[in-house]
Amino acid sequence: MGTEISVYLWHEDPRLGPEAVAAVFTEVARLDRLMSTYIEDSRISEINRDAATRPVEAGDELFGLILRSLDISVLTRGAFDITYDSVGQHYDFREGRRPDEDTMAEELPLIDYRLVETNRGDGTVSFLQPGVRINLGGIAKGYAVERGVAVLQSLGVRHARVTAGGDTRLLGDRRGQPWMVGIRDPRDADTVAVTIPLEHEAISTSGDYERFFEEDGERYHHIIVPSTGAPAGEVHSSTIIGPDAVLTDALSTSVFVMGVDQGLRLIATLPDYEGIVIDADGKMFYSDGLRSPD
Ligand code: ADP
Ligand code: MG
Repeated sequence: MGTEISVYLWHEDPRLGPEAVAAVFTEVARLDRLMSTYIEDSRISEINRDAATRPVEAGDELFGLILRSLDISVLTRGAFDITYDSVGQHYDFREGRRPDEDTMAEELPLIDYRLVETNRGDGTVSFLQPGVRINLGGIAKGYAVERGVAVLQSLGVRHARVTAGGDTRLLGDRRGQPWMVGIRDPRDADTVAVTIPLEHEAISTSGDYERFFEEDGERYHHIIVPSTGAPAGEVHSSTIIGPDAVLTDALSTSVFVMGVDQGLRLIATLPDYEGIVIDADGKMFYSDGLRSPD
């Protein structure tokens, strides 16, 4: 998944700890083989290769996650869009490469989640145009930490914290205390902007500091505005807290694209979800549920 995974857990049986951690890593590796566009024989690579010419069977798990992604596109009015990758594939943040004008003109019309057709009857995915690509980078880590926690629960673990990159899912509390989860200062990796006590919950942060390069003073990073194909510029980080890591992951990416006003307005419509956005001036904005009454 191109990121660091960490597992903290507590269990009475000291032998079970390492076993449970290993089981989480096995599960995450399985998901990576299913969902990575970097693995040529992954199911998602097969979809990207063939879905414009024939319906491709996705398998229950991948099909379910694609359906959820398409629903979130509707919810966010297209801010979240797994077809961002037709343009996204032309960015290389390690090499400092980005799409040129011609490539952009050619690929931008292919960013449109409505070009992905799903058939619930046989669980297949088709693309309505050649060149469409999907990438679950904005939602797969949330799914992975949910699955990680489910694996731990099945082994009898009741207190754990599973993190993949910016996505964390907490199981229970930290044995009588809440888990303390920090949100970093987007411009200083060593400074924590705010620490939040949490139990039984998921928290996801999207930032413009994870994967980026700079060119002529301009920062090019990995969260793409579907309507322009360019990196989103309005905020530096967005954090979402809620019961389901799949949704906190997708929403943190979405709110990053939507910006402070539109993003927090969306969060206000979702009763169990809260958000913290840090804008380009370093100013912090909280959703209503996190603000102290004044
Ligand atoms: P991180 O990967 O650092 O945890 P995010 O959860 O915000 O951060 O995911 C960013 C990833 O989401 C990108 O690397 C890319 O794979 C994918 N992505 C980028 N832009 C979009 C978008 N508009 N909609 C859906 N996915 C996106
Ligand atoms: Mg995300």
